[in-house]
Amino acid sequence: MRRTSLLLAAALTAAVLTPGVADAAPCNGYVGLTFDDGPSDAHTPALLNALRQNGLRATVFNEGQYAAAYPAQVRAEAAAGMWIGNHSYTHPHMTQLSQAQMDSEITRTQQAIAAAGGGTPSLFRPPYGETNATLRTVEANHGLTQVIWDVDSQDWNGASVDAIVQANARLTNGQVILMHEWPANTLAAIPRIARGLAGRGLCAGRISPQTGRAVAP
Ligand SMILES: [Zn+2]
Repeated sequence: MRRTSLLLAAALTAAVLTPGVADAAPCNGYVGLTFDDGPSDAHTPALLNALRQNGLRATVFNEGQYAAAYPAQVRAEAAAGMWIGNHSYTHPHMTQLSQAQMDSEITRTQQAIAAAGGGTPSLFRPPYGETNATLRTVEANHGLTQVIWDVDSQDWNGASVDAIVQANARLTNGQVILMHEWPANTLAAIPRIARGLAGRGLCAGRISPQTGRAVAP
């Protein structure tokens, strides 16, 4: 009896202390968390720490100019298990560019991310979600799947931590949410986003290049 209770106590302690137990909760569906406009020395390390500590993986849409400037942060994103997408080189309004300029924005970003060690992206998010037929042709030429979003967290527009948490609470299976790496409120919201998803049986997934929807990693 005594030995049994000791073993039971040990098992309970392990269950409480081992993060893997919570991670093993069943996933009824997957959502695509996305963070745009990085990487940077100022924000990427804290974002990656918060995601890691809360058992979340995300897609980070990097600007090529920042991938070139902060290649170590691109490698850190990959090492933390994030998926790295292309968010243009200089964050222009793409639909105002010529096809050649669009191609340059996308090509240079593919090269900067790959050169930094982030692999060659298969996903592209146009700045401001602005797209047109010419841009879709350029994306296709690079084998890129365009990913806009289902839910806009409005974190770029001064949304509160509560509002960012509530936006994530609206996500359903397969959907993608827009967030950014730079707002302090987004960083602060991450533990509550993780708890909210777990409470609804949803897990953070990758975005499928075949469908543009969130799927199992
Ligand atoms: Zn952006």
